[in-house]
Amino acid sequence: MSPDARTMLENLKIYAPNVDPELFEKAFRYSEKAHQNQARASGEHYFIHCTAVAETLIEFKLDLPTVCAGLLHDVLEDTPTTKEELEREFGEEIARLVEGVTKLDSLNFTSRDEAQAENWRKMMLATAQDIRVVLIKLADRLHNMKTLNYLSREKQERKAYETITLYAPLAHRLGMFQLKSELEDLAFQYIHPKEFEELSVKVRAITASREHALTSFRTTLEEKLTPTNMEYRILGRAKTLWSIYQKMKRQEKTFEEIQDAMGVRIITPTIANCYALLGIVHSEFKPVAGSFTDYISVPKVNLYQSLHTTIMTRHGDLIEIQIRTEEMHRTAEYGIAAHWRYKVGSEKSGKDEHLEEKLNWLRQWIEWLQDLKSPREFIESLKTDLELHQVFIFTPAGEVKPLPAGATPLDFAFAVHTEIGMMCVGARVNNKMVKLDYELKSGDICQILTKKNSKPNKGWLEIVKTARARSKIRHFLREKGIVA
Ligand code: MN
Repeated sequence: MSPDARTMLENLKIYAPNVDPELFEKAFRYSEKAHQNQARASGEHYFIHCTAVAETLIEFKLDLPTVCAGLLHDVLEDTPTTKEELEREFGEEIARLVEGVTKLDSLNFTSRDEAQAENWRKMMLATAQDIRVVLIKLADRLHNMKTLNYLSREKQERKAYETITLYAPLAHRLGMFQLKSELEDLAFQYIHPKEFEELSVKVRAITASREHALTSFRTTLEEKLTPTNMEYRILGRAKTLWSIYQKMKRQEKTFEEIQDAMGVRIITPTIANCYALLGIVHSEFKPVAGSFTDYISVPKVNLYQSLHTTIMTRHGDLIEIQIRTEEMHRTAEYGIAAHWRYKVGSEKSGKDEHLEEKLNWLRQWIEWLQDLKSPREFIESLKTDLELHQVFIFTPAGEVKPLPAGATPLDFAFAVHTEIGMMCVGARVNNKMVKLDYELKSGDICQILTKKNSKPNKGWLEIVKTARARSKIRHFLREKGIVA
């Protein structure tokens, strides 16, 4: 076995000790041979790209079929290998994954707007069958972004734009924060090279100057925590350049003007510890009013969980703190991929029992998109649905519905049930009557009033913010011949 293959296999065995080493080695050698006469734009052997993709998938701790498919992901497209041959050599599952990725590659993202969105939609639909295809595609995109400097300026811009508009939001939607951040900053340097460079220098400088504040925060906290014998670790948290840049643009401020807090993460084994740690932090440092959010009891749609708070040190420095368990940390960094891991010591692939449930939102989301009319409409809804900020609205019975920020009672009605949405005539929020275009806020209790023969009207399309509600309303109006 080659040294590269051996290293990869060792890393794979850390989380999946029972994998079949022969299958892995076979995929490795097969791909190496298939691509042997090909070179990348960098002049390197093409096979380097295949191993890079597989290494990322191992980093995500994905199962053996996914890793093998990662090694083989370009053989159908770039070599004479056929699907039948792959199936014969590696079985139906791996062949199907590779074919899924190949299908995505064959979609040509040409235009900057509509055609791109159209293709993206096809891609989502085609791959909804198996989320692992999307994960391989994301790993593929990551390596392509890392090696973008060998391409023409025009290609660089196009790929970077595509990455920032479509792939990074997708990674975020899947809860893969680390990947999303990496993709964003890689794209940023090609989209706005000058701004990227300037910001990098400034951030490096300020990080150095803040070192002192962080050390003193850490020391104070450690003094308090040592007697409790609590297990924990504190990690510094670098913000991505792209997120800082977006904040500057949003608030129309310079880097110096945005008072960006330092980020710290505290990781501890249990949920009880998380709350205990929060208590200690708040008793020792002054929390900034309104900064506390409990994403442990109310997780985000993408499964993210943590306690968030911002405190002020005695010297007036702001520190943003996230407190979470190890498991929450893995989910936050690797998102959906974290749920596709092998369970150590188990024979089976160890798929999460509740994964189906957890993936439901993805499937639903894709279903709603199928009803949409034009690519433009699709990209609009994609932007809204991928929006980072969410609100959590309660039904009178206490059920929580996550919705994008800006959502209205009509969106809520459709989120509860299509029938409720269709027959909606009014809404009460926190026991007060509101208009249908009222902007819901997290924690609102929303009650929908319905009337039996009531029907949607055209004006509703202006009110709703979610793809689901819009597609249902449009579908109805189209059927009645009210809209084209
Ligand atoms: Mn590739």
